[in-house]
Amino acid sequence: MVRESELREGEVAVDMPAPRDAGLVFIGRIRTPWTSRLETPRQGRQDGPVCRLEIFEPWVAAIKGVDFYENLEVIYWLHQSRRDLVLQSPKNNQKTRGTFSLRSPVRPNPIATSIVKFVAIEGNVILVRGLDCLDDTPLLDIKPDRCEFTPLAPPQPGDFQTE
Ligand code: SAM
Repeated sequence: MVRESELREGEVAVDMPAPRDAGLVFIGRIRTPWTSRLETPRQGRQDGPVCRLEIFEPWVAAIKGVDFYENLEVIYWLHQSRRDLVLQSPKNNQKTRGTFSLRSPVRPNPIATSIVKFVAIEGNVILVRGLDCLDDTPLLDIKPDRCEFTPLAPPQPGDFQTE
């Protein structure tokens, strides 16, 4: 059962150190059908619902070229996560494990990634399938899937010089 913020047996929370700003900027927001963590999928599926990556200015020009790729890596900030657990019990009262051995949303820096299927571009919006986050989740970055070296269009100068 997914939880909101309660501790489970065996879990350990720590005092959070004072934040040191990494200087992240949110490049947009993700619009999905889900408004509760209890109903949001644990991992996205590429046959899941179409979701919207709404890109803010001044980053809209950076969308150019994403339609070359069937799959994109989307990086986002799980803004409603608690951040102070070092031990977690993914299934209540069972198999307590360290945070770094889990893909739990609860982590010191709640950064999430999904490989999504590109659907379309509509102005400042990229439509994709395969997400697993709440509506209004802040968007950090979008990259071509690192495994995808079969772009839909012929390669353009500079396509493969991004890593
Ligand atoms: N696919 C990403 C990954 O592996 O890095 C995220 C996986 S995480 C298990 C997905 C879960 O995070 C969802 O089922 C939901 O419970 C929770 N979640 C989704 N959006 C969130 C948000 N904005 N804030 C906090 N928790 C969120």
